[in-house]
Formats: sequence, C-alpha cells, structure tokens
Amino acid sequence: MRTIRNAIFVKSSARLADCPPARYPEFAFTGRSNVGKSSLINMLLSRKHLAKTSSTPGKTQLINHFLVNESWYIVDLPGYGYARSPYPRRKKMMKLIRDYVMNRQSLVCLLLLIDARLEMQRTDREFLEFLGRNRVPFILVFTKTDKVSADRIASNTNRFKQSMLQEWECLPPVFITSSVKNTGREELLEFIEKTLQ
Ligand code: GDP
Repeated sequence: MRTIRNAIFVKSSARLADCPPARYPEFAFTGRSNVGKSSLINMLLSRKHLAKTSSTPGKTQLINHFLVNESWYIVDLPGYGYARSPYPRRKKMMKLIRDYVMNRQSLVCLLLLIDARLEMQRTDREFLEFLGRNRVPFILVFTKTDKVSADRIASNTNRFKQSMLQEWECLPPVFITSSVKNTGREELLEFIEKTLQ
C-alpha cells in the first residue's frame, strides 16, 4: 500500500450529511489554518495539486474526500482557528469538524497537524480536550520541520508532549514531517497501512 497506485478527488461537502457513502475506511486531516495540511496530503499522494494549497489561509471550508487505491479515503477537513476569519465563520468550521469527527462512522483515525515551529496554541489545546473527551482515535503530525533545526524540533515537540501529559495519561503516536523534504511520508503511509490491516 505504500505505493499509491491512484488517488482521485471524489467530492467536496459542506455538511456531514452530504459526504459520500461511508463505504471505505477514512483517515481525516485537520489542524490550524495554514498548518500545511494540503501540502502534506499532496506529499503523501505524490501529487502536486490534488489538494489545493491555500494562498489565503482559512478559506477551505469544505470536507474533501480523496479515494486512494480504490480502498480508503483521505479526508481533507477544514482548518480551524484562523484568527483573521470572522468569529461566526470560525465557529461554523469548528462545528463542521466536530460533527464529522463525532459522527462519521467510517473514520478510522484523525491526523492532527501541528506546526513544529510554534508553541501549543489555545485552539489546539481546546481541540485536544475535545478529542480526549470524545475518545476520538488520533495521531499527532508535526509539520514544516524543514524550517527549524533538529534541536528546535526536539525541544518544541517535547514541550508539546509535556504539555499534553499534564492532562493525558499517555500520548498518541507522533510523526515528524516536512512536505518540502518528503520527511515522514514512508512512516505515515506505513502507519496507515498497518491500521488498515
Ligand atoms: P493548509 O492551509 O493547512 O492547507 O496549508 P498549506 O498546505 O496551504 O500550506 C500553507 C503554507 O505553508 C504554504 O505557503 C506552503 O507552501 C507552506 N508549507 C506547507 N508545508 C510546508 C513544509 O513542510 N515546509 C515548508 N517550508 N513550507 C510548507
């Protein structure tokens, strides 16, 4: 499976009810706006433009389904927390994400993307609390690691984990990625492959 034979865009949905039939296992991607979600999806699928990389953060407001190898879905959820979006829109986005995460029966695992350069943000903390309360299976994916030194990646990710451990008994799997350098591609695809077995 680590070979992506094909990946096709299936549908954009503005509501959970509009999503395609829940026929295949789904791996859904979210994180703060501009975290590098579209770039990561394109990197995993070895496609330059399948998921749109946004020049305007906060703009993707739909749930996008991509069918991979005719057997599982990558689900590109909206990003959350873009400060310059009007509050009602931010709230609507978060509701859409939560609605999907809590009610989509074919969701296998959520990939929560975190910018490796930043401290844990309040919106991330709140979203993590929500995931914990609702027992949503998820992994942490640190992005844009080519932009910081290895030392800095280690200290930032450790701080993030320490901060989580104040509330959590154990940590989810953690992946280190860069879409520019293709870092973490094999590891993530291997994780998905194993989870699908
Ligand atoms: P999204 O809004 O979360 O989908 O984020 P995008 O994928 O559109 O990326 C936001 C910005 O970050 C774009 O300018 C990307 O080129 C840049 N970016 C995304 N991933 C990486 C990465 O791994 N390394 C670097 N250096 N830049 C990245």
